Amino acid sequence: MAAVTTNGSKATLDFTTFKNIINNELVDTVKHHYGINPATLEKLPNVPIANKVDLDNAVKAARAAFEKWRNVSREERNAAVLKFADLIEANADGFTKLLTLEQGKPTPQATFEVGGCVTWLRALSQIKVDDEVFEDTTERKVVTRFTPIGVVGAIVPWNFPCLLNIGKIGPAVLMGNTIIVKPSPFTPYTALKFAELASKCFPPGVVQALSGDDNLGPWMTAIEGIDKISFTGSTVTGKKVAASVAATMKRLTLELGGKDPAIICASVDIPKVAAEVCTYAFLNSGQVCLAIKRVYIHSSIYAAFRDAMVKYTKALKIGNGLDENVFFGPIQNEMQYKKVRSLFDDIAKEKWKVAVGGTIDTDITGYFINPTIVDNPSDESRIVKEEPFGPILPILSWDTEEEVIKRANASELGLGASVWSNDMEEAERIGNQIEAGTVWINTHFDVSPVIPFGGHKQSGLGVEGGVAGMKGMCNQQTLNIHKIK
Ligand code: NAD
Repeated sequence: MAAVTTNGSKATLDFTTFKNIINNELVDTVKHHYGINPATLEKLPNVPIANKVDLDNAVKAARAAFEKWRNVSREERNAAVLKFADLIEANADGFTKLLTLEQGKPTPQATFEVGGCVTWLRALSQIKVDDEVFEDTTERKVVTRFTPIGVVGAIVPWNFPCLLNIGKIGPAVLMGNTIIVKPSPFTPYTALKFAELASKCFPPGVVQALSGDDNLGPWMTAIEGIDKISFTGSTVTGKKVAASVAATMKRLTLELGGKDPAIICASVDIPKVAAEVCTYAFLNSGQVCLAIKRVYIHSSIYAAFRDAMVKYTKALKIGNGLDENVFFGPIQNEMQYKKVRSLFDDIAKEKWKVAVGGTIDTDITGYFINPTIVDNPSDESRIVKEEPFGPILPILSWDTEEEVIKRANASELGLGASVWSNDMEEAERIGNQIEAGTVWINTHFDVSPVIPFGGHKQSGLGVEGGVAGMKGMCNQQTLNIHKIK
């Protein structure tokens, strides 16, 4: 029986066939490819490979739609976004299963991500973006307005294909833009279905999605008719995107890689904090931009904290995300799997000590990797310097605040960081000196649609979320009015 939500919407989507969405129509292509279920290595259904004509058609439709959508009232845009949220909620079970099939994450984590899409859209619709009034006298009024940019191209990675997609659609359309979404070729399925639902909520051309191959991203960043690129992905690709958009001076937001440090102070409750740190390091099998990727433990508790982390990690189950009680699903794709495996080759080569894991079972089907904690490797080792994007984590010992702050900041990346302590003064003192877009105290990866989020250094440019994220989907226009007397 179809699920019915509290708002009366019913599950309507068929999750077996996948087409591009152009101008609110389901559009097929001549060429197709398919994703791979990373837990079973089975082929998933065919998806389109958009060509240049498909992109031109989508851009043409988005431009035409923008001329009308920009003038639609914020109340009407809110209503469309809230209807979209209702329809996602009604189809949540289908999205959750599809997300696990295409991405690999366990059902509870997929449920959380799909539920997050509904929460995000509802919360974003409540964010008000007011004009900024600098002067309002009998002689003069000076005010800055936030006007839509035009057509937004959204380029999304494979680790959170639902939430990162919705986190771009919501702000773009609420602020009066139209949007073309390009999912990763590894995870195109949920994005096409979101756009199919959006076609029931928005006028033609407002929300479109194109599945393509490796050519589509570069075409989108180069094409004249797109005015802004909102990109989430690796720092390497982000630099290519920045170089490409320079030719047309597109507006740009970049949400890129992270190498988040967690600094553990001597006063923490060891078993409790060790469990939380493992969770934030290993969620989605470590494939999270904001995962904890380096753990600095005070030397006075190093051994006890390491042992508590090992105990907690050993109890977590690895397997197909559709099975019950699984915490570690597979790595999403073969390329990433090989990249993570190369770090395992370094274990013997570099003589790293391993506290848990350290080997990969090659006789099983699926891109599974045993969770691994590397015990006090050198600060210069690859595992401390690079973003692994897999379940392998270095832990390191520290003695003085000055030293640990310097080591935590010794990265080109600066996305997130956390400090764990029962002494709030100490925690804030350390936290204030960390170079990262978000610094948490006694938690990590606690994100919200109403709080701005972005990276320092090579972790990004601009922010998403909150009023600042909504303004990122706008041009600023200052009206400087001298009143006639
Ligand atoms: P990626 O950079 O390989 O790909 C991201 C997207 O860019 C995909 O859709 C891809 O098809 C597209 N793309 C690839 N080359 C392109 C080009 N030259 N021009 C335009 N588009 C192009 O990243 P990934 O491997 O899919 O994702 C993992 C990375 O994303 C990690 O580094 C992770 O930290 C980062 N990430 C960051 C955030 C954040 O919010 N800061 C969130 C999630 C993931």
